[in-house]
Amino acid sequence: MSNLNGKVALVTGGTGGIGAAICMKLAESGAKVATNYRNKEKAEAWQAEAKSKGFDIVIYQVDVTDYDGCVAMMKQIEADLGPVDILVNNAGITKDTTLRKMTRDKWDAVMDINLNGMYNVTQPLIEGMTSRGWGRIINISSINGQKGQMGQTNYSATKAGMHGFTMSLAQEVARKGVTVNTVSPGYIATDMVMAVPEEIREKIIAQIPAGRLGTPEEIAELVNFLASDAAGFTTGANYAMNGGQHMQ
Ligand code: NAP
Repeated sequence: MSNLNGKVALVTGGTGGIGAAICMKLAESGAKVATNYRNKEKAEAWQAEAKSKGFDIVIYQVDVTDYDGCVAMMKQIEADLGPVDILVNNAGITKDTTLRKMTRDKWDAVMDINLNGMYNVTQPLIEGMTSRGWGRIINISSINGQKGQMGQTNYSATKAGMHGFTMSLAQEVARKGVTVNTVSPGYIATDMVMAVPEEIREKIIAQIPAGRLGTPEEIAELVNFLASDAAGFTTGANYAMNGGQHMQ
């Protein structure tokens, strides 16, 4: 188990399927964990449930598309827990349709959250991480950023873009003790995927050599490793975890 005692972690979109597992895993490893959300009712219920399992996660109502809100959140986290050492850019959405039918709204919404949101959260933190000489940034991309997917030109563009950001930022901060990596999950058994009709889900599973969906906990294990001191020599990398569905 990684030792993250004393570290402060921010996981964006932690109240969702994968984010929740990451929050719990980092907390289990000793980190003080914060997350942000849009939906207050859902987040408060989620926080109470986490508390009942012994996890004290601090929550902030901040939309990742709001740069000033993100800057204010970083100041508040610093006051409440200390400066952020570990950032997991996990908040993300899909708005799928073929490009022929894709309205500008659907394109912009996905760009704003998945890509601009990553900038809004990361940029205010980078100065502090480099000046303290230690930091971990983990960007949650997707298999569909690597292989493309019909109906996801917007989503795939953002997820491929995330790894471009990872590789560039990794070069900027490598000598300052800060690593930047991408995790690209395949199909994971979250509410989003479980809501897909069973018949279609079975077709997806048939394309996965491992013969099953991944679990949020498996993604969290990888993130937990990348957040640790032991992962100090890996940076700018893209870690695929997809049951063999896409191999590079
Ligand atoms: P999810 O359950 O839908 O969770 C998404 C989270 O992001 C929610 O907590 C949501 O909070 C938050 N969020 C969305 N827009 C936000 C915004 N503008 N500001 C702040 N928070 C926002 O999704 P998931 O399946 O756990 O996916 C997590 C990440 O993994 C995403 O980036 C997704 O693209 C990626 N991924 C998922 C899979 C999969 O199979 N599930 C596969 C590959 C990659 P609110 O509800 O409060 O808005």
